[in-house]
Amino acid sequence: MFVLPKLNYQLHSLNGFISEKTMRVHYYKHHQGYIDKLNELLKGNTELENQTLHYIIMHSNGKLFNNASQHYNHSFFWKSLSPTKQKIPAKIYSLIIQRYISFENFRKIFIEKAVNHFGSGYIWIVQNPFTKMLDIITTDNAMCPQRMYLRPILTLDLWEHAYYLDYMNERKKYVQLFFNHIDWDFANQNLLK
Ligand code: FE
Repeated sequence: MFVLPKLNYQLHSLNGFISEKTMRVHYYKHHQGYIDKLNELLKGNTELENQTLHYIIMHSNGKLFNNASQHYNHSFFWKSLSPTKQKIPAKIYSLIIQRYISFENFRKIFIEKAVNHFGSGYIWIVQNPFTKMLDIITTDNAMCPQRMYLRPILTLDLWEHAYYLDYMNERKKYVQLFFNHIDWDFANQNLLK
């Protein structure tokens, strides 16, 4: 049985970026909904019901994959957020500079890719497990990086349910403000050794 993970902050702590109302619906309705559906679909599935979330994501398709991956993506998204603006740890900062020359250039590309992503999905910082290089990618709908053999480092939910109540159609403002609420320590900890 999968359960809703605890948040590291209160639902109102992201106010100004994500309202308490959006957080409440997103966390208790959308995320909980994916977990309920996942548990329901796993019932009686002798191959997958006692496996880890990672194993299920790597070995399922269709509805089961979608709900398992959405549980993973939301759990990862909550951890990517911080109530306050954080200093960027040296290790991830140097990998960003190595790949994108300047932080400002990285920020510009991240915002452009998020705004231009068509439809529902996520934007990610990912790490290539072989070269250790960082990259910015977007994924459609429920897709997650590990299913594409990439290491997830940080994410922002681009589904309309993540921002529409607060920003309506202005996805760009939502993505810009994300930069004041990134949990860089979480991102840094996700880097491969
Ligand atoms: Fe979402």
